[in-house]
Amino acid sequence: MNILLLGSGGRESAFAWKITQSPLCTALFIAPGNAGTGAYGTNVNLNVTDFQGIGNFVLHNDISMVVVGPEEPLVKGIHDYFLADEKLKAIPVIGPDQEGAKLEGSKNYSKAFMRRHFIPTAASASFTEHSINEGLAYLETQKLPVVLKADGLAAGKGVLICQTLEEAQAELIAMLGGKFGEASSTVVIEEFMSGIELSVFVLTDGHSYKILPEAKDYKRIGEGDTGLNTGGMGSISPVPFADEAFMQKVENDIIKPTIGGLKIDQIHYKGFIFIGLMNVNGEPFVIEYNVRMGDPETESVIPRIESDFLNLLLGVAQENLAEKELKISPKTAATVMLVASGYPGEYLKGNPIAGLDNIRDSHVFQAGTVSDGSEIKTAGGRVLAVTSVQDTMFDAVQQAVADAGRIYYDGRYFRTDIGFDLL
Ligand code: ATP
Repeated sequence: MNILLLGSGGRESAFAWKITQSPLCTALFIAPGNAGTGAYGTNVNLNVTDFQGIGNFVLHNDISMVVVGPEEPLVKGIHDYFLADEKLKAIPVIGPDQEGAKLEGSKNYSKAFMRRHFIPTAASASFTEHSINEGLAYLETQKLPVVLKADGLAAGKGVLICQTLEEAQAELIAMLGGKFGEASSTVVIEEFMSGIELSVFVLTDGHSYKILPEAKDYKRIGEGDTGLNTGGMGSISPVPFADEAFMQKVENDIIKPTIGGLKIDQIHYKGFIFIGLMNVNGEPFVIEYNVRMGDPETESVIPRIESDFLNLLLGVAQENLAEKELKISPKTAATVMLVASGYPGEYLKGNPIAGLDNIRDSHVFQAGTVSDGSEIKTAGGRVLAVTSVQDTMFDAVQQAVADAGRIYYDGRYFRTDIGFDLL
């Protein structure tokens, strides 16, 4: 079968790598892809939100499945676009419809979903411009620190942890006044939870589900998880504290009611659910849902999946996921992200990358790269993900860091302490 994969990051490189290992894959197209995805298939110069262009491409290239990497096309309704078109509706799209994508697109919506289905999460209340006085009064009743969240997508910047009442009240006024534009026209005020975070990934066909390997990501730019927030500087899978007893709680208290809740609410959900969790004294609480895989978690998760990944996606498309096998490697995957100088602020672009052939025992998933003649150049903030899979976490981390150091470009930076907190 011919597959169209949407996206251009390290996540999509890992998908492309795995999908093309399947005997079920005849041809893979990646829109728009990056310099690395060109090695697994054909890059197509299409924007992920150009639904008409994507639809035309699908019809002209005999595509049998569309796999959506990032959230934007889902939140904008690509699944609904396909379902509404006579010629496209038979082509499965892996990813939820627009209603399902609200689980990520609106924090107010996802909190209401969790409350309705008794899914453990921090206590919260939502406010708008019209209820600003209630919001300010509500803050006076809250323990500190307190968390303020813009309802909509704010590129990972819309969450503020406030240490004083004055700060929280000033931020609430600023957010409702348009600090994050339309995204903060509703603000969720949430109780602060203290614990360790992890990401759990579920694949569902709307009826049954498979739990993919869990992972921990490292968000901050600096060693010791300090400095500015980024899209993610590295990841580890599995996560040692996510033992069988903990994962059983996650499945019973969170995954089952989430899948059940989607059904009760009649939400058409076929795709990935990324559950951001906090382990609070051994009990899992949901921080957030995302409606796609995480990046750079995917680069650690996918290499641990031993089964045919495309066959699993086919199970989603054909609603027979329950019959498919999911075998997971017991080894540890460590991913180190190489970024551009300046990232996550303004960063350098267009620097030639050297040393990609020097890697010893890792896999390089390209992210922000572009081909320029015979050269590969940097083209994004997060440039490359280097993943090593080894018997122990220590070896995986050491190898990934060593191999990251074998790659060179002007302004190259990576963290050398990914996973150290877990060792
Ligand atoms: P992301 O970039 O992860 O998609 P987001 O903007 O969707 O972020 P959240 O994931 O809800 O927002 O929150 C971002 C981060 O803020 C979390 O990963 C967590 O570290 C912290 N956080 C969020 N809610 C809470 C909470 N209730 N208690 C403590 N920390 C929290």
